[in-house]
Amino acid sequence: MPDDQVAVVGAGLAGCLLATMLGRRGIPVTVYERRPDPRAAGAESGWSINLALSARGLDALGRIGLREEALRRALPMRGRMLHGLDGQPDFRPYSADGRRAINSIGRADLNHCLLDAAEQTPGVSLCFDHRLTDLDLDEGRLMFATAAGKVDAAAGVVFASDGSSSAARRAIESASNASVSQDFLAHSYKELTIPPHQGDFALDPAALHIWPRGESMMIALPNVDRSFTATLFWPTDDLDALTAPTDIVVAFRTRYPDVVPLMPTLALDYQANPVGSLATVRCWPWVHRGRTATLALVGDAAHAIVPFFGQGANCALEDCVELDRILREAAGDWTVALPHYQQARKANCDTIADLALENFVEMRDTVTSRAFQARIAARHALERRMPSRFISRYELVSFTTVPYAEIPSRMRSQDRFLARCAAGGLALFAAASVLLGRRSRTMRQRTTISGSARK
Ligand code: FAD
Repeated sequence: MPDDQVAVVGAGLAGCLLATMLGRRGIPVTVYERRPDPRAAGAESGWSINLALSARGLDALGRIGLREEALRRALPMRGRMLHGLDGQPDFRPYSADGRRAINSIGRADLNHCLLDAAEQTPGVSLCFDHRLTDLDLDEGRLMFATAAGKVDAAAGVVFASDGSSSAARRAIESASNASVSQDFLAHSYKELTIPPHQGDFALDPAALHIWPRGESMMIALPNVDRSFTATLFWPTDDLDALTAPTDIVVAFRTRYPDVVPLMPTLALDYQANPVGSLATVRCWPWVHRGRTATLALVGDAAHAIVPFFGQGANCALEDCVELDRILREAAGDWTVALPHYQQARKANCDTIADLALENFVEMRDTVTSRAFQARIAARHALERRMPSRFISRYELVSFTTVPYAEIPSRMRSQDRFLARCAAGGLALFAAASVLLGRRSRTMRQRTTISGSARK
């Protein structure tokens, strides 16, 4: 089986970007997608999902000329708007300068852009209505269910970008050295809608809205049609227990009193929309060689994470950037590139998986505490004074392309410095800030900061 026969399974975000990048390298690629073409078929109701697109995703899209197009379809969110039970919204900027933003974009919309890009790339073919059912790496054969019956295809290199419940991943699961886990949260999610109010946004569109309620929360992200997609993250049992329209309205009046008047179809939406599960996938290896073909996992298929840092898609798109870079450095030799790719990405993806789980507690609970607010305000003040010495965890994740795996150690070193300052008193701190202020000017160039929202 020639190695230049490449199959990509799954035409989601990662699959389309990867196919476009490979096609631009002159590698012929066939992409197989289980759904009909979503540009014609439209999104499934209740699964619209709007994503917070940030530096890593934008950097990846920029490499195929889609950055500006994506930003045109997105709305910048410069901070969190917290909604307490008293109904008083409270805005907290994401960045020290208050100007950087993450960008709310419909996942389907972004997928359409990426499908267009893949389709327009010479050498890339898209096959819709092809659901992978089986993969034989010894024979180099992929088997699909289609409307016309079973179909076979051949490939020497197979990329699995078929999402968190990847069918292609099964070929790795059956290998003796494999370790694969899918850890489900006790919380699930359900989408609801906040329609435009008198033709305008019902809430501030420049913020990601959060109703933190301790064990659970609701969030809402703006859409370009002036609606908001709200998402409940509740214990699964609580979501299932609520069925009667009056109970639904009463529960919302108790938990989110300010938003009930903005949701005229609340009970109907709640009853109609599905419940989605939330899982972290941890898998190793990501690359598996059979006698004839090699499989490599990309995106959620390799490392699905919970959505509380808004990084799943950003991370999946970053996989493709890394794979493309490594393939170029390996002069197109898959046997060199694929093992290097999995080594380069694994620690980064493990780190963001852990950070995303931690951030759930922050979003639904800690964010409301006075101590947390004071810590963030202090960090932002330090960042303004020493911008390269102090960068908050949120900013490193969302506004830079610093490898995820480096972030925990950077945070520890910042914390140590703060502790020393506290122990040494104000005089030492003042001296250190002058010293580091000088050093920070030289270090500034070493940190890649996204200019996405520095408008
Ligand atoms: P997917 O987007 O899942 O694409 C997989 C593709 O494979 C699909 O097109 C599917 O139809 C196809 N497929 C599946 N099985 C087969 C098969 N057997 N044969 C052929 N094709 C198949 N990420 C962020 O960055 N920011 C956010 O704010 C954010 N918010 C989120 C909110 C929620 C509620 C959820 C659930 C996720 C969120 N994410 C977010 C995560 C993000 O959606 C995913 O990480 C991202 O979509 C992963 O891209 P992917 O291409 O790897 O997989």
